[in-house]
Amino acid sequence: MSGNLATVSYIGATILFILSLGGLSNPESSRRGNLFGMIGMAIAVLATVFGPRVTSAGIPWIIGAMVVGGAVGLYAAKVVKMTQMPELVALMHSLVGLAACLVGYASYIDTSTPLAGAEKSIHEMEIYVGILIGAVTFSGSLIAFGKLSGKIGGSPMLLPARHWMNLTGLLVVIWFGREFINAHTIVDGMTPLIVMTVIALLFGIHMVMAIGGADMPVVVSMLNSYSGWAAAATGFMLSNDLLIVVGALVGSSGAILSYIMCRAMNRNFISVIAGGFGTGGGTPAPKGDAAQPAGEVVPISAVETAELLKDAKSVIIVPGYGMAVAQAQHTVYEITKYLREKGVNIRFGIHPVAGRMPGHMNVLLAEARVPYDIVMEMDELNDDFPTTDVAMVIGANDIVNPAAQDDPSSPIAGMPVLEVWKAKTSIVMKRSMASGYAGVDNPLFYKENNRMLFGDAKKMLDEVLVALKS
Ligand code: NDP
Repeated sequence: MSGNLATVSYIGATILFILSLGGLSNPESSRRGNLFGMIGMAIAVLATVFGPRVTSAGIPWIIGAMVVGGAVGLYAAKVVKMTQMPELVALMHSLVGLAACLVGYASYIDTSTPLAGAEKSIHEMEIYVGILIGAVTFSGSLIAFGKLSGKIGGSPMLLPARHWMNLTGLLVVIWFGREFINAHTIVDGMTPLIVMTVIALLFGIHMVMAIGGADMPVVVSMLNSYSGWAAAATGFMLSNDLLIVVGALVGSSGAILSYIMCRAMNRNFISVIAGGFGTGGGTPAPKGDAAQPAGEVVPISAVETAELLKDAKSVIIVPGYGMAVAQAQHTVYEITKYLREKGVNIRFGIHPVAGRMPGHMNVLLAEARVPYDIVMEMDELNDDFPTTDVAMVIGANDIVNPAAQDDPSSPIAGMPVLEVWKAKTSIVMKRSMASGYAGVDNPLFYKENNRMLFGDAKKMLDEVLVALKS
């Protein structure tokens, strides 16, 4: 493939990636967005592999690597459960970081195109910054994977003088950066590069370990953004324009998403990035499955739930992580369809951080073919709860916790929540009194107008549906 054709293909791929991002911003166009992304990526890979910069001797190696990587990816995508998606995404971010580090070291020891003067310094700066971002992304994403999969505890690890440690690390990295640029030989430059890599790896671990349970959504989107910048840095190291553009697109869209998540959590962006600041306002989340239960709860049966729904004129459903675990979305749709046919005004209230990844609930509801026009954001219907007959909470906990508003010492204090307790009756569907991801007790359960429907969400909803139809 000629250089010109490769450039044209890169421009085409860039346009497709931009259209893909545009499509993904709306549930109705998201399938098309994904398709654009896939076509763009296929063009980008083909134009790179068969482009002027790859020799024919290299092609079998690349194809071999693609077959191995593609097989692993295909297998992972086939076996992954919907609830494991966030962990898989975190793991993929870590691979982008690792790739940036490896490309960085490879381009440093590669002497096939000798550079001199300013060009050499700029290239070395690209390598240094690229490995720095890559290493932070790599180790941070691995810790995020551990936290999301429950292999590492969710509560923040707050080391004494942690901000001073971070600052010292930053100064050491800057100092070694100077040593690296001034090094005359590859051997001389290797020591500062390795020291910086180790510090960056430790910083990534420390940064994510210091972030408390309820702030994790911000970390997930932030690491998404970092992986984009790591890819852009790789693009600079390899002088690949497409990688720079795509990396910048991912980096900036991830940064915008982080900002949106911060607003949803009522957290300060800089504080969360610095790690651990976000938890300063509250006491750390208690350890263990559940915080201390405080009060009596009123259980309800599936049949009684169906009676309440039959009598209701307006219903708001608030889905959470438990709906994903139970895979209850299809039964939710059946119930929704039935009640709508009976003339009930039924809507869904989606919290921006519900579930374990941005847009988690929207994806599940779209999969179950719930119409988009009844799926509303938290701000759109929070004022409607006082005029709602039944608020049905399906496997959600933190996002409907009134302590966020009432208890300034709560780890989730200040986080906007769906005010389900303002409805005439709220029904919380979950298996036990266990707390949610943030590890805090939920005073909603003990409210007078609240009922608890204990059991697996799918099983209970199946029973509700049978009772509704009988
Ligand atoms: P929560 O984690 O607060 O609560 C989920 C509830 O679902 C649990 O209390 C659990 O109770 C219940 N549950 C689990 N399995 C089932 C089941 N099979 N059937 C019925 N219920 C079940 O989830 P929310 O969606 O309310 O809030 C999301 C939380 O996750 C927030 O704290 C957010 O910060 C955090 N987070 C969000 C991310 C994102 O990007 N969206 C990323 C990382 C973290 P029980 O065990 O008793 O059944």
